[in-house]
Amino acid sequence: MSKNMKLAINGTVALLLLGALIWFAWGKKTEGAVCVFCGKTFSHENISFHQLSCEDNNVNMQFDRSR
Ligand SMILES: [Zn+2]
Repeated sequence: MSKNMKLAINGTVALLLLGALIWFAWGKKTEGAVCVFCGKTFSHENISFHQLSCEDNNVNMQFDRSR
């Protein structure tokens, strides 16, 4: 009887932890990352790729040498 109670509490705690983890991960994901060059916000998956091809990224000028 008390074992079932413990099991139920453990299950509730595990669910709460999982929920908090998902909430935290989701908050981080929607927060995004700000481009250091143009200041726009992008998702964490896209920010590094965007910064490489950002229009305001002067470090990448070697790609425009043909001009
Ligand atoms: Zn940018």
